[in-house]
Amino acid sequence: MQYKFRNFYKCSKCGHEWSMEWHATCDDRCPKCNTSISPTRSEDIIPKIYPKWIVPTYCSDEYCDDYPPYALIEITPDLYRWIQRALKARKSLDAARIQRYDYTPDWKASEIDSPTEDELVETECRIDYNLISVSDDDIKWTAVIKHTSVEFSTERIPLKEVKEAFKVYKCSKKNLPLLINDLKYNVSKELLERRLHA
Ligand SMILES: [Zn+2]
Repeated sequence: MQYKFRNFYKCSKCGHEWSMEWHATCDDRCPKCNTSISPTRSEDIIPKIYPKWIVPTYCSDEYCDDYPPYALIEITPDLYRWIQRALKARKSLDAARIQRYDYTPDWKASEIDSPTEDELVETECRIDYNLISVSDDDIKWTAVIKHTSVEFSTERIPLKEVKEAFKVYKCSKKNLPLLINDLKYNVSKELLERRLHA
């Protein structure tokens, strides 16, 4: 649960100052002397809304079925910057793909085909060695089930989708409606909706 406000307090009795995140701008008790104090000021906490993918996974060993079938992937601006640097490095090194350790994927299970985020459940699987791998066309993650040699990967996310999603991420809230008709990918459309209603 994300709180909506950061409230700042200064105790009128003992001078102690503190802040607290909460759903409302309300009084709090001084942690030093227990006096009830109203906030001196409150700041809105702007929720961080990043592009999000639910991606199926696959394993090259067709008899293996104990790996997590889905990855919930939220790409942060930091990771997006690294992806852009990896693309430049790939070009200058003439490499096929660039990899690094990256623990972004939230590995999930689900009873349902093509689940929504609410239909994803925790997996029992312990996962190790998460690698992100970037090519000119796509990104994907590969990982290993802990204490085994079972390696599995996410399906590829086309870079076109990632780029479009970050266009929505970077757009000012005021200009979001101007983007609606240009968007091709569901992740961007869904991100735009989430941002408009945040
Ligand atoms: Zn006090």
